[in-house]
Amino acid sequence: MKKNLIVANWKMHLNVSSASIYINRFNKEVPVHRNIEVVIAPSFLAIQPLSLEVDHRKIKLAAQNAYFKDEGAFTGEVSFTMLRDLVKYVIIGHSERRLYFHEDLETVRDKVSACYRNGLTPILCIGETKAERIAGETKRVIHDQLITALSNLTAEEVRGIVIAYEPIWAISTFQGEVAKPQDIQRVIDFIVYQISELYGSKVAEEVRILYGGSVNPDSVSGYLALENCDGALIGGASLNYLEFAKIINKAYLIRGKE
Ligand code: PEP
Repeated sequence: MKKNLIVANWKMHLNVSSASIYINRFNKEVPVHRNIEVVIAPSFLAIQPLSLEVDHRKIKLAAQNAYFKDEGAFTGEVSFTMLRDLVKYVIIGHSERRLYFHEDLETVRDKVSACYRNGLTPILCIGETKAERIAGETKRVIHDQLITALSNLTAEEVRGIVIAYEPIWAISTFQGEVAKPQDIQRVIDFIVYQISELYGSKVAEEVRILYGGSVNPDSVSGYLALENCDGALIGGASLNYLEFAKIINKAYLIRGKE
């Protein structure tokens, strides 16, 4: 059975000492859940100290980004190579990276390749804007983002990827609306269909797909109950350790006992 994944994306919040206090408190709130993998993506600075502090049975670490070259004269960048042994996952192609830092389809593809080259697992974010949704372009956008990002991978590599469907119109950064679970189901079904067309149904069954729009402890269950929804990528609500712990406990009630 696939392990469900609940990912906290702290974005540019929580400095090293706040991150450490959070982890200390959070550790006491959440037991080890066999079927739920809890992942925290802190700032780059906090990754190294947290890697020494977290209970690795309970929490895996992720980076929020990395650069696709392994080493070289790239001022200000951090490579996937540098993250080896510190994190298990790297978030790639988050909508804020695509929008504010102009990451295009090919950059995201190269980051996904670099992630695998360095033995790490990508959490690939894909999703459409509000304007694209209104224009009826959701499937085209998802198709283009997915096909390009996966284009250098073998079927074996695709099998292990995590895809976060992040409807940009439903995240807090962009004053998003609350997404109806049935709308999300349609896109998850489309993602599964696309992967099975390209890599076969066996691979599609193994890929983990997360809901990446805004959730809170009250709304998360509606998304986790969707078919082929294997977890959530959480922004704002993950900054409060109690809220995040509640979300994990909800996930356990729905998926953890399977
Ligand atoms: C996100 O940025 O992917 C996200 C889900 O953020 P928030 O939870 O803050 O809406």
